[in-house]
Amino acid sequence: MVANVPPDHVVIFGRPGSGKSSLAERLGADFGYTLVRTGEMLRDAVRKGGFLGKRVENHLARGDLVPDRLIFELLEANFRGPGMTHLLFDGFPRTIGQVPLLDQFERRYGFQVGCYLEIDVSREEAVARMTGRRVCPTCGATYHLISKPPKVAEVCDKDGTRLERRPDDTTEVVEFRQQVYDDHAVPILRHYEQTSPNLCRHVNGNQPFAKVYAGTCEALGVADPSPA
Ligand SMILES: [Zn+2]
Repeated sequence: MVANVPPDHVVIFGRPGSGKSSLAERLGADFGYTLVRTGEMLRDAVRKGGFLGKRVENHLARGDLVPDRLIFELLEANFRGPGMTHLLFDGFPRTIGQVPLLDQFERRYGFQVGCYLEIDVSREEAVARMTGRRVCPTCGATYHLISKPPKVAEVCDKDGTRLERRPDDTTEVVEFRQQVYDDHAVPILRHYEQTSPNLCRHVNGNQPFAKVYAGTCEALGVADPSPA
C-alpha cells in the first residue's frame, strides 16, 4: 500500500554526478517541498545585504568557511514559520560538524526529519558521468558522451562547433569533489545509519533518471506521480 503523502521533512544525499539536485527539484515540484540549499542560502543572504548578509560576505570575502553558528542563524531566518511544513535538505548537513545544527533546528522548531535518503552511485560511475559532459561554446547546447552523444564525435549537432568540457569537469576537479563527498558526507550517512537506521533509505542511482526518480518515490512511500 503506497501512501500519497511523503515524509514532511527529508534529507537527501548523493555524490556529485548522482543526479541528486535534479531529483530534489523534481520532488519539490511534485510534493511541495521547499528546498534547503545552504549554498543558495548564503548567496541570497549576500544579495539581500543586511546584518546577516554582511557577516556572510565578510567570511566569503576572506575565503573562510562560514561558521556553523551563522549557518544556523540563516536557517532560522529563512526556513521557520508558516509555510515551512515540507523541507527538503539538499547539501545540508555538509559536514559531521553540522549534524548537531540540524538536531538543534529540529528541537527548537518542533519538526522531525522522516527520511535520510541516499542516491547510491559508485564513484567510478559518477566520474564517468561528470567527465562525459560536453557543452557547445557557441549555442550552449549540452551533450553527454554516454547518455546524449552528438551525431559527430565532439561536434555540436546544431552549429558544428567543437564541443568543450565545462571548466568544473576536468578529471582533477571531478575527483576532488568525489573525495570531498567521501570525506564529509559518507561519515554523516554512517552517523544516521547508527542513530536512525529505520529512517535511512537507499536508492539505486545507477539507472536512467526516470527509474531513479521512481525508486526515490518508492523509498519515500509515495507513488511516482508521472510514471514513464
Ligand atoms: Zn552549438
